[in-house]
Amino acid sequence: MNLEEMKCLGWLEKELNKLTETDLDRYGPQREVDSMEDESIIGVIKSIECKKLWCIANRLKEEISELRQKHHREHIAGSPSKQDCERVDREEIILVSRCRAATDLFWCAVREKMKKVNPQIGVRKGWKLVSVPHEEEIPDITMIIPIFPGHDPGQSSSPTFC
Ligand SMILES: [Zn+2]
Repeated sequence: MNLEEMKCLGWLEKELNKLTETDLDRYGPQREVDSMEDESIIGVIKSIECKKLWCIANRLKEEISELRQKHHREHIAGSPSKQDCERVDREEIILVSRCRAATDLFWCAVREKMKKVNPQIGVRKGWKLVSVPHEEEIPDITMIIPIFPGHDPGQSSSPTFC
């Protein structure tokens, strides 16, 4: 293992440079403000960097889901080798870590701007920040790791993240 060329932010710089205006529309928040649910607008996100972080996390979620579905199909079609299962698990751990990092950076930036601590906030279409009556139900992507019959990466298939 050669750790000399190790970079922490290389992937993020690449992703930030790659995203276009069209991507911001496609991967940006789609949910409308729900006034029936007592959501009230507390601000609008203007920072392109923040928008991009949100979109990067969202796109990574799609990638993770596609990776899982593809591997699931491989299991249905036959028996992938142990090496294939290991490769998929490794890839998934990296994607999940990146997704979490982008999400954390986004929320960190939002919270730094807020005058008081309010854990109940959400992002809606048009990059509107809303306060919500209940805590957002954001599915934890690490909680939905599917168990494929026959999936054998040779280690625990539920990787833990800290
Ligand atoms: Zn597998």
